[in-house]
Amino acid sequence: MPADPAAIARDLIRCRSVTPDDGGALSYLHDTLAKAGFTVHRITFTAPGTAPIDNLYARIGTAQPNLVFAGHTDVVPAGDEAKWSHAPFAGDIAGDVLYGRGAVDMKGGIACFVAAALDYLAASGGKPDNGSISLLITGDEESVAVNGTIKLLQWAAERGEKFDHCILGEPSNVNVLGDTIKAGRRGSLNGTLVVTGKQGHVAYPDRADNPVRGLVKLIAAMQAPLDDGSAQFDPSNLEFTSIDIGNPTVNLIPGEARARFNIRFNDRHTQETLKRLVGQRAQDAAEGRVRFSIEWEPSNADVFVTKPGPFTDLAATAIAEVTGRQPKLSTTGGTSDARFIKDYCPVLEFGLVGQTMHSTDECAPVADLVTLTAVYRRIMEKYFT
Ligand SMILES: [Zn+2]
Repeated sequence: MPADPAAIARDLIRCRSVTPDDGGALSYLHDTLAKAGFTVHRITFTAPGTAPIDNLYARIGTAQPNLVFAGHTDVVPAGDEAKWSHAPFAGDIAGDVLYGRGAVDMKGGIACFVAAALDYLAASGGKPDNGSISLLITGDEESVAVNGTIKLLQWAAERGEKFDHCILGEPSNVNVLGDTIKAGRRGSLNGTLVVTGKQGHVAYPDRADNPVRGLVKLIAAMQAPLDDGSAQFDPSNLEFTSIDIGNPTVNLIPGEARARFNIRFNDRHTQETLKRLVGQRAQDAAEGRVRFSIEWEPSNADVFVTKPGPFTDLAATAIAEVTGRQPKLSTTGGTSDARFIKDYCPVLEFGLVGQTMHSTDECAPVADLVTLTAVYRRIMEKYFT
């Protein structure tokens, strides 16, 4: 009997693991993996001002190469549960579709790589033919991501664990299973533009200096295109997300005006070169007459790309053999834990179709769960031959 990914996903959905709660999700995986012969570690990480978070690392085999499957069991809140046609933590299967929070992001993906590992091990005498399979699972991805993958990777490295390649099971496909592998992500950087003026009465503008004029000028200059893309990436973009003056008075020229922005940047920039470029644009636009500063927030979301090569070819071939589709290597979308994993080994993201992630009635067709399990198993077979 092959392992049933829909049943595993359903059991995981029934654990109410809205970050930072675990709801029994990791214990369920712990039992399932231990029964299959994995050595399972549970590690709780803490940090001031954040909830302690449980994490799991499991490995079977001692040889290299070590192929890692990574993911998170935590989910975003369900929102108004009355709006769901199936209760978000019931794991209902109706019309061959599995419903529930986390069905695609990403309890479904985890269920598929667990089922694939169980099937692969059963067919190969209980352990990988020449290497190791590991699972790296956190309960802290959807929120601040402080006590999760970033610390779990450090913990594993300190124990001497070496990772050769990683598949992160985030929902990477856009329309249909097999259309997209994520092979990198843009970086993300937040800043605030602060323009200082001089407060005064609107009727006596000569006695004041309105910072709004300067703010508008600098915003216009700063949101000009940053580049026209690169071989693996779309163009970078800088978006102003909030303009904050907070002035309730109609006849008062404010003393300060602020504007927040977020930049998604490709591999033509680093955080440092980007700060210089944006700062220079503001400076040029200011022409020595606008008093301004830019406050940058620290960012752990650097740009990275996993270049096409034997590992991307292996994954793409496995996907094409199982689904009949040639996946495209993409770098679009937001950040994920791949930004941390990339410091330890090459990482690709391949999972379910992302269309219902984070939305009401999140769901995955059972057929997709079965197909994704077959893809992961094919990847293991090719990897360990
Ligand atoms: Zn996710």
